[in-house]
Amino acid sequence: MKVSRSRIVTRGLSNCCPNCGKHSLFKAGSLFEMNDRCPRCNFVFVASQNDGFHFRAISLNFGVTITAVLIPILTLAWTGHLDATRAEFISIAGVLLLPFLLYRATCSWSLMNYFLFFPAELPANRAAAEGEPDNPSPHGAP
Ligand SMILES: [Zn+2]
Repeated sequence: MKVSRSRIVTRGLSNCCPNCGKHSLFKAGSLFEMNDRCPRCNFVFVASQNDGFHFRAISLNFGVTITAVLIPILTLAWTGHLDATRAEFISIAGVLLLPFLLYRATCSWSLMNYFLFFPAELPANRAAAEGEPDNPSPHGAP
């Protein structure tokens, strides 16, 4: 396998293309707009609206927000270390702000999670297995 699982994780954690490792998944000068394809290897990041990419990214974003903001704040409020008004204010500010801060990371983690479980679907790995040059077809396609 040309691209190992550990390499997929390092590329996913650094917002790089899972196929070739080029930085970044996002358009230059844009905080939230993703490239449709990798500028180096032409790998399609989001194959279609129905491939689960957005669902995975939103789920990861929601899960991290709940774990990092709501659970600690509610625990502090419940144990009496933080008064209810302050807990409400911090919770609301956290759940409104953190998803924006995590947007780029969770988009990258969405791709990373998919190819962590299905590394053979990366075009570089498919091409290496078939002995062909890298195939830029979208992930999930047969
Ligand atoms: Zn690439």
